[in-house]
Formats: sequence, C-alpha cells, structure tokens
Amino acid sequence: MVALRSAVDTGKIDPRPYQWLCYAMTGNAIRNYKGPAFITASVGAGKTIMIAMVAARFSQMGYEGMIIARQGEIIDQDAEELWNLNVKNSLFSASLGRRVRHTRSLSAAKERLLMLYSARKRKRPPWVISHRDFCLLMNAIRLTGRMLGTTSIKGPFWSGGEIVNIDTKYLVDLGFLVPTIFGVPDIEELKYDLHDFESNGEDGAQDYTESQLKAMQEEIIKQGTLTQKIMLKVMELTRNRNGVLITCAGKKHCKEAAKYLPDGSYAIVTDDMGQKMRRKALKDAYTGKIKYVLQIGCLTTGVNIPLWDTSVILRKIMSLTLLVQLLGRGMRLLKSEQVDQGLVKEDHLVLDFTGTMFELGALYDDPILEEAELQRSKRSGEEVPCPKCATLNSPYARRCIGEDKLSPDGRCEEFFQLSAVWIR
Ligand SMILES: [Zn+2]
Repeated sequence: MVALRSAVDTGKIDPRPYQWLCYAMTGNAIRNYKGPAFITASVGAGKTIMIAMVAARFSQMGYEGMIIARQGEIIDQDAEELWNLNVKNSLFSASLGRRVRHTRSLSAAKERLLMLYSARKRKRPPWVISHRDFCLLMNAIRLTGRMLGTTSIKGPFWSGGEIVNIDTKYLVDLGFLVPTIFGVPDIEELKYDLHDFESNGEDGAQDYTESQLKAMQEEIIKQGTLTQKIMLKVMELTRNRNGVLITCAGKKHCKEAAKYLPDGSYAIVTDDMGQKMRRKALKDAYTGKIKYVLQIGCLTTGVNIPLWDTSVILRKIMSLTLLVQLLGRGMRLLKSEQVDQGLVKEDHLVLDFTGTMFELGALYDDPILEEAELQRSKRSGEEVPCPKCATLNSPYARRCIGEDKLSPDGRCEEFFQLSAVWIR
C-alpha cells in the first residue's frame, strides 16, 4: 500500500483503499495485457478519480491516453480531476462548446470518431479509457485495439475482461455511500395503478419510450386527486430532509405534482429547458436554495447533488440499470464543506408510489431490490423462515439472505424460486 501510494502523486486527494486496489489491478491488467478490460463500479464509487489515477501513471511513464464519454458533463469532470492530479490534458467536447484543435464545427460523435481514427494511425496507439459507456468502448476497440473501461453498467455481451467489481453494497458497508431506506409503513395504499406498464426484464439501460411515457402520464392524470394526496404525503415525510428528487412521467405530470409544493422551493428540469436554465436549477439544488427537483428521466447520470437524500418515484422505471443509477443519486455522501456547515445526511429514503421496486424485484437479481423487498415484508409481517437456516425472508425472496460460512459466497444456498427456462 505504501509503495502504491508513492507510485502516483495524487496531490490533495486521498484515494480510498479500494481505489488504490483498482489502480493496482488495472496496472496488472496493462502489464499482462490480454485484451480489453474493464472495471464495474457502482454509482458513487468515484470512477472519475480512479480514471485520473491511471491517467496520472500514464503521463508519468510517457504513455499517451484518451478518455472518452458520451456526456459533456462527465468529460468535463474527468478533465478537472486530471488537472487536480497535475495531468496535462486537452478537452474536446461539442456539447460544452470547447475544443482545442478543431476549428470546424463537428458533432460530438464525429469528433470522437476522428480522434479514434487519428489514434489508430499512430505506431503505438494510445490507451483509451471509456467512462461509463459500452458502445463507445466497443467502437474504440475496433479502431485502436487497446482499451480500458470503467462503467456502472454491465453489458450483457461481455463476459471476460472484468478486472474487479465494486458494487453498491460493498460501498455502503464501508461507509462510502449512505444506506437506503425503502418506503414507510403508511404509504402502501397511496399508489398509482400502472399495471398496463411493465418492464420487459431485459439487461441494459432502456427506459419507456416517449409515447409510452405520454400514455403513462395520461393514466396518472386520470387518477384524479391521487397526485395531490401523494405530494402532501411527500412533503410531510421529507419535512426534515435535505433534498428531494422526484421522477415523473411527463411535463404535465411534473407541473401537477409541483402545484402542491411551496413557491420557490422547486425546479422542473427537462431536456428541452435550455442549458442555462438547467445549470441554474441544478446549482440551486446543489446549494440547497431549492429543496425539490422534478424530472422525467434526464438526470440519471453525470449529476452529483449530495444534498439529495430522498428519491420519489412517481412513474414506472423500465430497467434495473436505470433504477440503480437513479437511486445512486441519493446515496452519495455530503461534501466535507457541507458537513462543516452542519448539514447531516444519514440515509437515503426511497418513496415509490408506483410499485416499480416490487415489479423489478421479481425480474432481476439485485442486492438493492432484495433489500427493498425485505424491508417491505418486515413491515407487513409477511416474512417466512428458511427451511435450511431459519433466517426470516420475504415471501418473494429468490434466495435466502441467511449466512453460511461454507458457501462460496458466504450466503445460505436455499433458493426459494426457480427461474423459468424457455425451451423451444
Ligand atoms: Zn437459509
């Protein structure tokens, strides 16, 4: 560890032990390069810092490298972190309106392709690090042949090459994310009936289409005063909380929900509101000037508002990946200056008024959904004992949550539900 720490000068930043571990394992993967490799890291794992540490080593060793990402906001953060570690870098981004070498106006996609193309023509291609995007990763591999990636999304098409997986539960257990509390006993009755909208259960980050969301919004508006009742409940339950992120089905739905919030306490953030307004809204949320942010689905990645400690779900979410990213917003720790200001964030509260958690819990294996279901069954007193170890489980649990030291993953191997096998 000491040797590791002296390998890279991280300046004022003190990387977490697992970030050093990722750094060391990445170094190994590069030394014994067998092909593209990636790290799966949960939301809040600090991917930006981990990328910057690797980049710092590259620059010390005289290697060239390139970091690519789909969103301007992410690459902006990457560049800033590189400067924090004294790594010289040039930033190219059409969406941020900044580029160093190109004088012609290029779309972001074209710009990236051009960079990858020029990378391929060199004798020794630069290392390419993709931040959170598997499609970019695949394109870059085709063009340059050498690749590293960090992502919170695991592609179903990629089985080998994973260096390490830093998952959400691990980060919560170590105190790098706050734990999540799901619902409260008395909101089970306050729920939109959205049974016509169902997840397809596929892997990936897909969401409902625009027309599906529109139909969902109509359905919600039809359910009359339910939104008012829900919002009054939300205000009551979040009275002593810092910041609340509310996800709705459409603009009309956002406005309807916001109607019951105090004037000046909220912002509605949409894709088409314009960059300037969007930045102002997010800044006001960051500083705590506004408590509530209502959105339709555009803030799931690349936005870091540590004050958010409550996630309110007012529409169905299609996929596990999207849901986990969404909930990840609320699990981040406060910045040290916010703690110095006397702000407190002990946990993340999820208020789901749509049955999304329950629906996805039946479709996907995921520790967050499992925990949500366990908390729900505890409240309703529905738990059933495991026949093997007697640990209490939700009646919908897929696998017993009890411990078993003899099992390879330390967990009881009683499976309650077998997944169906499709034979044709
Ligand atoms: Zn058991």
